[in-house]
Amino acid sequence: MDYNKIRGAAMAYYANLSDEEQRKAWEFFKSIDTDGNGTISRREYSRSLAKMGYPDTQNAFKMLDKNGDGALDFKECITLFYIITVHNGGVFCDGCGINLWDIYFVCVGCYMAGGNTYDLCCDCYRTKNFNHQNAVFCDNFKLLRSMQPTATTASASREIAKKAIEVGQLGINAINLLNSANGIAHTANAQSDDCTIM
Ligand SMILES: [Zn+2]
Ligand SMILES: [Zn+2]
Repeated sequence: MDYNKIRGAAMAYYANLSDEEQRKAWEFFKSIDTDGNGTISRREYSRSLAKMGYPDTQNAFKMLDKNGDGALDFKECITLFYIITVHNGGVFCDGCGINLWDIYFVCVGCYMAGGNTYDLCCDCYRTKNFNHQNAVFCDNFKLLRSMQPTATTASASREIAKKAIEVGQLGINAINLLNSANGIAHTANAQSDDCTIM
């Protein structure tokens, strides 16, 4: 698995954090470096992952250890910080189990239903290495784009919310309404035809 992309994203994310948030990354690093020698050993890494409730999967440590010296320095740990705090450990292929950090396929039905998603790497999707009945798959980039409300649905949602305020309902109801209106728009968009033709 190529970690260069997730590493690049982690560095970009970190560069845009406030001083306060960057300090959290440093504290994260120090909490794993239990002997305080300035690097995270394989052992410290495994223990911390177990404590945080994440599986010590495959070659993740090797991939994080960019310079291959057998330990993670702070810079290498930023990628781990990003994977855990932003991505909750990341997404795994439901066919072969690899970490998905690039383009991959998502079951639209499971995604829309909330809860667990069903995701496949391109190889598993191509070779049909999965058993997921009557599923419509869409790649993650396409799915992200299809989530964007169209100008019409967005303004329709705003109109509904505005009306609710006008008839004297509480603002919070309007927000709920706005959210549910957006939800309807999202569902309609993501199940549009161009998503099913892969
Ligand atoms: Zn796979
Ligand atoms: Zn599904």
